[in-house]
Amino acid sequence: MIGRFLSELRGRRIVGVRTKEGKVLVPPLEYDPATGEPVTGEFVEVGPAGTVTTWAFVPEPGAGHPLDRPFAWALIKLDGADTALVHAVDAGDPQRLRAGMRVWPVWSDHPAGQITDISCFVPEVTDIVVNVRTEYRLQAGGALRVFLEGIERGVFLGGRCDTCAKVYVPYRLTCPECGNAIPETLELPDTGTITTFAINNLPDPRAPEVPFVSAYILLDGSDIPMIALIGDVPAHEVRQGMRVKAVWVPELERTASMANIRWFAPTGEHDVERP
Ligand SMILES: [Zn+2]
Repeated sequence: MIGRFLSELRGRRIVGVRTKEGKVLVPPLEYDPATGEPVTGEFVEVGPAGTVTTWAFVPEPGAGHPLDRPFAWALIKLDGADTALVHAVDAGDPQRLRAGMRVWPVWSDHPAGQITDISCFVPEVTDIVVNVRTEYRLQAGGALRVFLEGIERGVFLGGRCDTCAKVYVPYRLTCPECGNAIPETLELPDTGTITTFAINNLPDPRAPEVPFVSAYILLDGSDIPMIALIGDVPAHEVRQGMRVKAVWVPELERTASMANIRWFAPTGEHDVERP
């Protein structure tokens, strides 16, 4: 019985034997300890994972112990078995040990047909902590591409709805209010008025400093404000109604990207009432 059990361990399999009552004994025995009857001789593969039923913690391992760090001797009922196997559980912190804990075997790299072919059992991994970085590349759609090509030339492109006469910037293909197609683009100036703003105290790679201000800016001639950074002015001086103008990066550095606009800076004109 034990010879078969150990031979199977060498192949990284754990087997038990079935009793006449249909129970699976692991490790296998020649006689059913409950009835004294000989077992059937039918071997059954179990585990390899199992559940800890009880344990004893060993804070200071001795020379003959399977691990050189604190561990627990545990009774482990392998999946499919009706009896528990004694083995070492390497759980690190004893606080992690509990009855019902799921464990998996760690196999020795050099199996020899011994119980030590299982180096120990370790807690089942139920979660992991991992640092993930995901980079996105945004593919501009038809209308956004037209707008960004304008930005590359240093121009804000909007569109006027023929039906309601509203001017939208960035340019869009249809009017969200009427649903009508907007056939043509319209060049807008790079000046406007702050309608509302927020002072941000968390750093952002696009922002000049902390705190920085992001604002909704109503470009002159537009009916919809667009969001942008405000620069060249202390955050506490930014206000609603303030007149601003885009600060562009030098022409040679421009691409079809919003990064062409550093930020909007105050023009020094008088504020606008109720923008
Ligand atoms: Zn419209």
